[in-house]
Amino acid sequence: MKRLLLVLLTFVLLGASTARPADKMRVVATIPDLADMAKQVGGEFVDVTSLATGVEDIHAVPMKPSFAVVLNRADIVLLVGLEAEHAFLPALLEASRNPKIQRDQPGYVDCSVYVTPLEVPSRIDRSLGDQHPMGNPHINLDPVLGKRMVRAIADGLSRNDPEHASVFKQNAEAYNGKLDAAIAGWEKQAAPLKGKKLVSYHPDLLYFAERFGMVPFGTIELRPGIDPTPSHIADLVEQMRRSHVDLVVREKHYPAGLAETVAQQTGAKLVELPVMVGGVPEAKDYISFIDYNVRTMLRAVQGS
Ligand SMILES: [Zn+2]
Repeated sequence: MKRLLLVLLTFVLLGASTARPADKMRVVATIPDLADMAKQVGGEFVDVTSLATGVEDIHAVPMKPSFAVVLNRADIVLLVGLEAEHAFLPALLEASRNPKIQRDQPGYVDCSVYVTPLEVPSRIDRSLGDQHPMGNPHINLDPVLGKRMVRAIADGLSRNDPEHASVFKQNAEAYNGKLDAAIAGWEKQAAPLKGKKLVSYHPDLLYFAERFGMVPFGTIELRPGIDPTPSHIADLVEQMRRSHVDLVVREKHYPAGLAETVAQQTGAKLVELPVMVGGVPEAKDYISFIDYNVRTMLRAVQGS
């Protein structure tokens, strides 16, 4: 009897270890944008999950105990980089006790390596806020930078699974070709956005604005991660009126009230936008996410 149990148990354990194809790399992405890209590039050779669902603030994704477990089993972690995830990822990596995905290990894939950030501070001063110490990290909102993130992901997957490097390269090129076609369409559609001035709650829209010829005018936040003060809002409203700012963008994870008030007081149109895939139901993958933002911005500018 005891022997039978032992045989059975061995069988169960063997079954468990072969249930997952051994050649699939376990990839954990911090945000759904990176997860979508990793699926496009990795195809059948990866098993991808995302920590964030897309409705969170990338600077403050709430940590769940399950995250450490998922990371413990990961072969690769994909992050936006530029310290975007610094409020939660370093602690989770430590808790994961997984040597493969620690910073500077092959399994740690920083997707910002091909991007030159904007708004790099000339000095690090914590009183200026510590959310953007390496410059503005919201690169996923610009699809051209998205293509560079795809390249970084292809590099990262290849580094960890060199045998399939040529497949990853091919998949990345095919997906970037799809993105190129979409970008050409968006640039055409976005012509009415050119020169439009916008204020957002947090500087999430910087790269999007640059891409489509819009003018970032300021933020409701005093500085990245620093709450607005009454005098800042009074100054902002005054300057917005004088400069005829067209739009106030409220990123979906910020409170509605203040953005509404600023829009009302200045006559600017209020637009609500997701900042990642999954932030609204329509943004189900990276291309539909950018598409949603372009269309929503256009609707606001064209007043329909
Ligand atoms: Zn930020």
